[in-house]
Amino acid sequence: MQINISTSKNNQLVNITQDVQETVTKSDVSNGICFVHIAHTTAGITINENADPDVVRDILLSLDDIVKNLSGFRHYEGNSTAHVKSSLMGNSASIPIQNGKLQLGTWQGIYFCEFDGPRSRKAWVTCVEELNNQ
Ligand code: ZN
Repeated sequence: MQINISTSKNNQLVNITQDVQETVTKSDVSNGICFVHIAHTTAGITINENADPDVVRDILLSLDDIVKNLSGFRHYEGNSTAHVKSSLMGNSASIPIQNGKLQLGTWQGIYFCEFDGPRSRKAWVTCVEELNNQ
């Protein structure tokens, strides 16, 4: 199944935990794994703190500090920093499902990472029931 995500900023982390949980609920998988894939080259996914919004802000600030727009970049689109940030964050996450619920820590949220927005984006969510090996 797909989740649609609309981003409103050039660089932005969007909490998609509730959307992913709704997809898990629709899937009827009770115990297994939820695999989320971001099919974009200038976006990513990460799991991090959902309590203090300054954590998300600080992650974006750190990425801006780590990934500079270098004069030697050749990519014709001019968005190489977005591609580098995408690779740093990665494009997939796997979360266990137990009794139909994502097994995230109390302070964990799933974040779609936009690095070349604003845009309309998509995440693929695949839920797989674990085999019963009794
Ligand atoms: Zn590009």
